[in-house]
Amino acid sequence: MKTFQRVHIDDALRQMSEWFLQHTAADGNGLIRCSHCGSIIKGRIASLSIHSIEFEQGGPQGDMCAGGGECLQLYIPYCANCEPVPEESGCIHTHMFTNLARA
Ligand SMILES: [Zn+2]
Ligand SMILES: [Zn+2]
Repeated sequence: MKTFQRVHIDDALRQMSEWFLQHTAADGNGLIRCSHCGSIIKGRIASLSIHSIEFEQGGPQGDMCAGGGECLQLYIPYCANCEPVPEESGCIHTHMFTNLARA
């Protein structure tokens, strides 16, 4: 799958579970394989910047990417035979200030 870019954290989690449902199948040995070609699913660690939904409307196009400089390392699954290697970096959008206020 592709590394998340400007994806809300809830959508990112949903997209990942949908990707597994649509693109993979477990074989009898407990390995996750591509449902199209049968290759074993690989993964790459991507570095995702955490951006604030509160800042999104602040940019000239209303889609500003800004956050507190935090990063999340996430394992992005992909089939090396059917897909390009996922991008090394991306970003996830979340309610940064709401979360901080709750903490
Ligand atoms: Zn495949
Ligand atoms: Zn972003």
